[in-house]
Amino acid sequence: MGKRCKYCLKPLEETSDVCAFCKIDNTKSKRDLEKHEKLVAYFCRGIRVIGFLVILYGILMTFSFVGLLLPTIGKNMITTPVIVFASIMSLFGIFSIFLGVGLRRYYKWSFWGGAILFSLSLILSILSLNIIGILFNGLFLYYTVNRTSRKILLHKL
Ligand SMILES: [Zn+2]
Repeated sequence: MGKRCKYCLKPLEETSDVCAFCKIDNTKSKRDLEKHEKLVAYFCRGIRVIGFLVILYGILMTFSFVGLLLPTIGKNMITTPVIVFASIMSLFGIFSIFLGVGLRRYYKWSFWGGAILFSLSLILSILSLNIIGILFNGLFLYYTVNRTSRKILLHKL
């Protein structure tokens, strides 16, 4: 296992102390970073944290809705609205797990996946006056689409 960048956790090349991904010199201590480097380091960590939360959320969603579906297998309930809803929510949960992993690895598609998923979830939370949903999705959306995160996730640093 080679060394990893202490700011974005991507593997460091052996020949250079400057991270090829986040462009921060790893010999610099956190205190010596330039202002824009501090922002990049901060949002790299932010993206990994929300990625982790989205994975947890996806696992919870998937298990709770698959749990709802299991007792109905073999019974003639396939087309009831509850089943359709639970199936959609399970898929949504599985997608969230992938999205969380994508965010933690700074995959480009996770920027668009996150922007779409968190915007839709935020609108649904606002419409249903779900305060916790508004807070979390607002936070997820902010940490995915703000200027610095956009540059990180779209690899334009
Ligand atoms: Zn880095």
